[in-house]
Amino acid sequence: MLKKKITDLLIGSNNQGKIDEFKVLLPKSVKLYSAKAYKINSPVENRKTFRGNSFLKAKYFSRKTNKICLADDSGLEISILNNNPGIFSARWAGRRNNFNAAIKKVFNQLNKKDKNWKRKKIKARFVCALTIYWPNGKFFTSVGKIDGTISKSKKGKFGFGYDPIFIPNGEELTFGQILRSNKAKIDHRMQAYRDIKKFF
Ligand code: IMP
Repeated sequence: MLKKKITDLLIGSNNQGKIDEFKVLLPKSVKLYSAKAYKINSPVENRKTFRGNSFLKAKYFSRKTNKICLADDSGLEISILNNNPGIFSARWAGRRNNFNAAIKKVFNQLNKKDKNWKRKKIKARFVCALTIYWPNGKFFTSVGKIDGTISKSKKGKFGFGYDPIFIPNGEELTFGQILRSNKAKIDHRMQAYRDIKKFF
């Protein structure tokens, strides 16, 4: 366990949405820097796991800036689609981040796999991997998950990405119908954050 708490932290992402989410999760006392401000392009995410991609990003941005860096990788795994979109969750939305198209693709793939999928429970889970990388080469990775099912149609206007089609276990509503503040108490990001909290 490191004795010195982290007070200065670079967020290893060029995505403003992600930076905003980390602002909510991390204690206010931590001074945050964004990769955006350093004008560093994001690396190619070519690992096969969430864990691998979060490590790759944290190390890359830490090496470029000589700062302690926190990076994440997350996505939606659907059991009967061989855990796709998984690490390709962002890529299914294309360059324009079009999640209407990504969700359509999910429904198309489910229809192809099983015409009766709407009458069944389609198991899915959101996964989030977080890596902190220190300039001396030390690192720590944690992975958080939340299990649920895929909704028969898009529901709700809250959240982002695949939220309108994900129903967490024990709930009737999709993440798109649940207030963001309530989602943040139970979601994959919070589960992963629990294990790295001790560093701040
Ligand atoms: P990446 O971590 O930048 O590779 O992107 C993660 C992808 O998974 C994005 O396309 C998100 O929309 C999706 N995703 C991750 N977490 C969530 C979530 O909490 N709700 C909805 N979609 C999510």
